[in-house]
Amino acid sequence: MMPANMSNPSPRIVPRDAHGISRKQISPNALRVLYKLNESGFDAYLVGGAVRDLLVGGRPKDFDVATNATPEQVKALFRNCRLIGRRFRLAHVFFGPEIIEVATFRANGDDGSGDRETSDEGRVLRDNVYGSIEDDAVRRDFTANALYYGVRDFAVLDYVGGWEDVQRRSLRLIGDPEQRYREDPVRMLRAARLSSKLGFSIDPATAAPIPTLAPLLADAPPARLFDEMLKLFLAGHGEAGFDALERHGLLATVLPETAAALAHDPDGRQRAMLRQALANTDARVREGKTVTPYFLFAALLWPAFRRELGLLAHEHLDPLALQQRAADRVTFHQARRIAMPRRFSIPMQEIWLLQARFDIRQRKRVFRLMAHPRFRAAYDFLALRTIEQPELTGPLAFWTQAQELPAADLAEQLAHPPPARGDAAAGDAVEPVAGASDGGKKRRRPRRRKRHASASDAGEADTSPTA
Ligand code: ATP
Ligand code: MG
Repeated sequence: MMPANMSNPSPRIVPRDAHGISRKQISPNALRVLYKLNESGFDAYLVGGAVRDLLVGGRPKDFDVATNATPEQVKALFRNCRLIGRRFRLAHVFFGPEIIEVATFRANGDDGSGDRETSDEGRVLRDNVYGSIEDDAVRRDFTANALYYGVRDFAVLDYVGGWEDVQRRSLRLIGDPEQRYREDPVRMLRAARLSSKLGFSIDPATAAPIPTLAPLLADAPPARLFDEMLKLFLAGHGEAGFDALERHGLLATVLPETAAALAHDPDGRQRAMLRQALANTDARVREGKTVTPYFLFAALLWPAFRRELGLLAHEHLDPLALQQRAADRVTFHQARRIAMPRRFSIPMQEIWLLQARFDIRQRKRVFRLMAHPRFRAAYDFLALRTIEQPELTGPLAFWTQAQELPAADLAEQLAHPPPARGDAAAGDAVEPVAGASDGGKKRRRPRRRKRHASASDAGEADTSPTA
């Protein structure tokens, strides 16, 4: 761990007229907390992502406060306050829906009190040693994340050179990069994420060890990695984040099977489809629309699913069983790295398995598919797939029109298909999912046998969440 004397005991003080942060940009509730702590004789500062984002003209998503008051002292000051956390005690001060997180200055340096433990590889397991503001600054990850803004003089305090790094738009780890990554490998993902979000470059010495140390992420808690993935891909900078993962050699650790599939993507279409999914997600975030993790993961892991279908092809399974097994394998393998809750993995699989049902033109089943709770997501996914398989443009047009037509007209059209196209014409244009579906053939089965055929007919896949 970095010795405390590596910090600069007298900080650089950036006065209020030199940094451009105004109180109008700060949550009134965060200001209330800062003033109240000051009035009670404590030091208190806005710190971390909020100060960083304000300095680069961004809008912080939350406002964290650091103080020399202990959690118990904070609790005594605020009625609406709860202490949380076992590893570190933190105070949460509630203002309606807004929570201001108040953390006591913390030291990571081993003070011999036995309150701190590290694993053999130097990973921090427990650290709940309170410290000075300088200690608190040097235990943070990047210099840009270690700037303090106070409301006594409205100055920014800098103990680690973060002010200059922000001016240079550079993300730089505090201390020895390799050691900081070994303490907490997730910092590698944070480097990729924050550089994408802020448009910062990663300082060369901070970037250098990442490709070599990336495998350490395999030991990070899968639930924490899942949270990081959501922040990386669903915060409006997912496309840049994906590129950063690849550039820094992190993709193979985080999404191993996707990385393996993209390594054999000669025409680049799988990559193009994936990047388009991320670009669409980014655009939705910018427009304030909702984004769903399961759709994102359906796209991120689609190359892996396609690859798995190929690997299973020799097993002579019926199409539905083949797809279900491929989907299960991808989900299972990926779960060892990233813990995706079932409420996301199940609809993700549904999106994949519904793809084969877009071959179908039989009236009853067309309507049944359109009523499926995941139809819209699966249809959007079909649209995305035209990037990988341009021949899906025709079927996509059918389903686009199917949604626009009044139900009676659609029923009429399906009962009397235009002679030029014929019943099967549109369906035959669909390349089944990796050649796995034979919806075209099954569709011609006698009507009365349909129910019994359901287990082997991809088109009848019952993938409801209760399964
Ligand atoms: P975001 O904009 O995504 O919220 P952030 O930097 O605020 O970015 P948080 O996870 O909210 O990220 O963390 C708040 C602060 O805590 C950071 O700015 C940093 O100072 C510190 N921090 C977070 N994660 C780590 C870590 N892994 N190691 C050291 N310090 C960290
Ligand atoms: Mg934050």
